[in-house]
Amino acid sequence: MDEVTIFIGGHWRHGGGNLMHSHFPADGSVNATLHAASLDDLQEAITAAERAWREPAWRNMLPHLRAKILHKVADIIESRIDELAQLQSRDNGKPLAETRGLVMSAAGCARYFAAACELLEGELPTPRQADLLTLSRYEPLGVVAAITPWNSPIASEMQKVAPAIAAGNAVILKPAEATPLMALELARIFEQAGLPAGLLSVLPGKGSVIGDALARHPLVRKISFTGGTSTGRRLAHVAAEKLIPASLELGGKSPTIVLEDADIEQAARGICYGIFSSGGQACIAGSRLFVHENVHPQLMTRLLELARGLRIGHPFDDGTHIGPLINEKHRDSVLEYVELAKREGGRVLCGGEIPADPALAAGSYFQPTIIEGLTNGARACQEEIFGPVLVAITFRDEEQLIRDANDSVYGLAAGIWTRDSGRALRLSDRLEAGTVWINTYKVFSISTPFGGFKESGLGREKGIQGLKAWMQQKSIYLATGNNVNHWCD
Ligand code: NAD
Repeated sequence: MDEVTIFIGGHWRHGGGNLMHSHFPADGSVNATLHAASLDDLQEAITAAERAWREPAWRNMLPHLRAKILHKVADIIESRIDELAQLQSRDNGKPLAETRGLVMSAAGCARYFAAACELLEGELPTPRQADLLTLSRYEPLGVVAAITPWNSPIASEMQKVAPAIAAGNAVILKPAEATPLMALELARIFEQAGLPAGLLSVLPGKGSVIGDALARHPLVRKISFTGGTSTGRRLAHVAAEKLIPASLELGGKSPTIVLEDADIEQAARGICYGIFSSGGQACIAGSRLFVHENVHPQLMTRLLELARGLRIGHPFDDGTHIGPLINEKHRDSVLEYVELAKREGGRVLCGGEIPADPALAAGSYFQPTIIEGLTNGARACQEEIFGPVLVAITFRDEEQLIRDANDSVYGLAAGIWTRDSGRALRLSDRLEAGTVWINTYKVFSISTPFGGFKESGLGREKGIQGLKAWMQQKSIYLATGNNVNHWCD
């Protein structure tokens, strides 16, 4: 059991806060212990960050040199894929095959924002008056806060830190209590890649203490948050009080729709991946299935076959589809939702229980579960379960389908399965979701903006606007003639 240090204003040392543990969800063993950051540590990190981002050597660093640091970060990550994937799997229990993908996507993200910071252009708007040249350029915000959840740390952390650094800011990263290890490792990688001291600090600790104080600190000029909707709402209030931007990537209860002409094999496999990969602990999990009554029997038969064939197992075993959930408390809440669904009239078609296999007894595992017989208004169809639980609803009429699919406080993602791409595009126009996948699900491109409608969030990450979101625009007017203002004559 290692005792790890945290990264405060360029220094590795023990935090001044309480003792915390990172547990391996497969057996509950302790991966590492550490001392959380204290409020004094937070102040020190922010003071160092404020100094570091104003430093002329950083402020005036040419974009290709800033990009070089991010490319070096990507090089280091790519040279350590397996080791980093194992660290991520130890922290949150996801199977190695998945965490390898997350690690590679983090490297790709660093490279994308390296390129984006070199390509970023200001604007030369056409002036409305003669004898004027106007230009508008992008500048960093200063010290910014990144607050992340436990389900995909390396990806969600890089998605904030890379563009924030590319934009010239200093970042204070507050990882989730359950998963502090990857953020600390990322800090080591940025340090090794040559990022000047103070520009990145990693402060593990309780959200209600360190996260809250970070967001409220007067020198923090942006809050970028990924996590639950209720925490996001609280942080939006803090940002409103301070009049600073907030970017919020929140929860979801995403509909996935099978039309009567869908390729059933393709749809069943895509739906299975969309809900059961990551054990359903994904904001974009396709957790509400709407299937046309004409294809209901075929689709459900195949989906049940696939779900029953999934291998629940140790995250490090080859071939594991579903690892443990993050911890027992969360597993208990998933189980409670299944019990609630039954009380609401749902029929459990598969799963619904803790696996009986003694080899899995020490971990927080849960079976892939499919429930039918509920209407969209049921709580199990409205609330985010964040586990391997799919609710399936049959539909006949397209208008009713649209009403039900949109009848959710969330609007993160949606899936459509059909051979008719024109109809899919028309449907996608009417779905209230930040991302719509057609004949695929849960695939991403770093150049494509991501974010939620409704209570799934505010703002977008990724893409070129994902860089500009970490900057503020300054417009400059230059008089090109010798006109004199006669107002005071
Ligand atoms: P959470 O909201 O409990 O915590 C997220 C982060 O916020 C953690 O670092 C936590 O310590 C911190 N935090 C908690 N209270 C805080 C406060 N008062 N002030 C400041 N920070 C605070 O969420 P979670 O349980 O870690 O993650 C699961 C949730 O995240 C799910 O709802 C999921 O849908 C959502 N999520 C969304 C996305 C997305 O991109 N939309 C991605 C992943 C996860």
